Amino acid sequence: MEIKFAHFSLKKSHRQLLLVVVISLLVLILWLTAHWSRQIALENLQQQNQHQLKLFVANLQGQLEKYEFLPELLATNSLLLNFLQYPNDVNTITALNRYLETINKVANASDTYLMNAEGWTIAASNWLSERPFVGRNFSYRPYFQEAMKGRLGRYFALGSTSNKRGYYFAYPVRDKEKIQGAVVMKIELIGFEESWSSFKEDFVVTDPDGVIVISTNDDWRYKSLYPLDKSVIERIHSSRRYGNAEIGTLAITRKDQISEQAQVVNMGEPRQSDHLMLVQEMPEAGWRVHTFASLGVVNSQVLKSLLFATILYIAIVFLVLYLFQRSRRIKERERFEKRAKQVLERRVKERTADLTEANIRLIREIEEHRRTDETLRQTQDELIQAAKMAALGQMSSGINHELNQPLAAIRSYADNARALLTRNRQEEASWNLEQIAELTERMAKISRQLKVFSRKTSGRIVSVSLQAVIENALKIVGPQLKDTETELRRRLPEEELYVMSDMVQLEQVLVNLITNAVHAVELQAQRWIQIAVSTRQGKAIIEILDNGPGIEQANLERIFDPFFTTKSEDRGLGLGLSISYRIVEMMHGTLTAGNREQGGAVFTLQLDLSSVTENQPRQELLSK
Ligand code: ADP
Repeated sequence: MEIKFAHFSLKKSHRQLLLVVVISLLVLILWLTAHWSRQIALENLQQQNQHQLKLFVANLQGQLEKYEFLPELLATNSLLLNFLQYPNDVNTITALNRYLETINKVANASDTYLMNAEGWTIAASNWLSERPFVGRNFSYRPYFQEAMKGRLGRYFALGSTSNKRGYYFAYPVRDKEKIQGAVVMKIELIGFEESWSSFKEDFVVTDPDGVIVISTNDDWRYKSLYPLDKSVIERIHSSRRYGNAEIGTLAITRKDQISEQAQVVNMGEPRQSDHLMLVQEMPEAGWRVHTFASLGVVNSQVLKSLLFATILYIAIVFLVLYLFQRSRRIKERERFEKRAKQVLERRVKERTADLTEANIRLIREIEEHRRTDETLRQTQDELIQAAKMAALGQMSSGINHELNQPLAAIRSYADNARALLTRNRQEEASWNLEQIAELTERMAKISRQLKVFSRKTSGRIVSVSLQAVIENALKIVGPQLKDTETELRRRLPEEELYVMSDMVQLEQVLVNLITNAVHAVELQAQRWIQIAVSTRQGKAIIEILDNGPGIEQANLERIFDPFFTTKSEDRGLGLGLSISYRIVEMMHGTLTAGNREQGGAVFTLQLDLSSVTENQPRQELLSK
């Protein structure tokens, strides 16, 4: 038990208290079990013995009743009264003795005899035996005294002559109302004790003094159940009831009184064992009948119950301990799980807080980035504008020259016209005015081109679909291609490509390049231009080819200069390529010109490819 307890984290004092409680409970339960099982076993034993006792008493009663009425019957015989009245009649005596002998034999009694009023035996069945009763006086016997009082005398005693135990029935022989004597029949209960000795219980019959007269245990005969007073012993001796037999004592001690007829007694020396004693009165015979049954069966029953209760109790204690331990473990596990859950929740909270903080930080950063982006874009727009202005600055001397020339011409044409009008030379004056108009038209063109270039575009370099930009540009130059019957060859990849650029400006570049190509092939018999798109090392390569005359080697270095043109004044300003070059430069791309081996020019435009498919500013670009 102690080992079991070691599993529990009970304090030592608690453990000791629990041990005391467990042991006390065990003692209490064992005591109750012993008490109840003894009670039940005793009841069972009592019932069994009661039954045996009844049988015994009925048997004994039956033995006695067989003879009880015989003396009364005999007393009615006139022979007996006659002989009492005339005792000296020799003829009668022999006849009477013979009669009594016959009756005794037929009834299977021990002795049958006739006593006169003084107690002398005057006739007897054993008249011929060695020790006949005739001539003996038994007036001291209570059965005689009872009979002389007119009642049936009953008595159990040891025969004074035969020294054999016998039961005496005596009945008065009356002459009318006067009692003349008594007829006595003695029976022996031979064989009765032996026939009951095979039972495991002891059967005992005591007389009114408590002396055992019949017993299935030979050692107990003529012993009293309880110690007797000296005077009582003396009285028994003097009555010669049991002859010279020593009146001993069993000295049984009463223990538990179970019921009126049943009690537990201790048999005293030498047995010293407890017995269940049952008692039944036989008042007519003046007897008490007892059975003594050993409590061995009760004790073994109690022992069995105790053993069972102990095992059951221990099993219950262990079961309780087991359940207690189990519930403790469950509680511990629940506590552990609860703790783990709390820790988890705390960590989740901490992480959530961290995340929230990080989120807020991110939002702030995004906001900052957005603002930076805004600032950058503005800066970039301004830069682009500044670059354009710088380009215009570079071009300014050329522009100056280009504008001054027609201005000077206009002035001279105007002077001419005025002079011609004063001379009334209308036609010539009109021709001069026409020249002025053409020149102003040319100046307007230059101005328009410059305006387009200097216009503040969105400047947003974003991811745009190359195919879409090409299609837009082709829409613009479509009518031109149609008018000049120039074939357009497209070599575009199937998958959509995205490049980093300003959509409107890229369109403008493409329109410029295609228009130039259309102009170049003008004089060819078979006219075609080709737009080919390919990719290489993260770049989109856009080539505009034509089957025109190509570019003269000497011109190749100059064609990107502002106002360089090989075309007539009304067709080219020489601004297209120089503006296109700068636009592409601003897109971080390159624009180069060359000649194809087979003849014809090739303009190659390289732009950064983008993987971004939406029109969103690219961070890296913005941050450059
Ligand atoms: P413009 O077209 O007004 O002359 P550009 O700057 O566009 O001005 O072109 C400059 C010059 O480059 C042209 O005059 C022409 O000599 C040459 N050039 C441009 N494109 C081609 C081409 N596809 N083939 C041959 N020469 C070309």
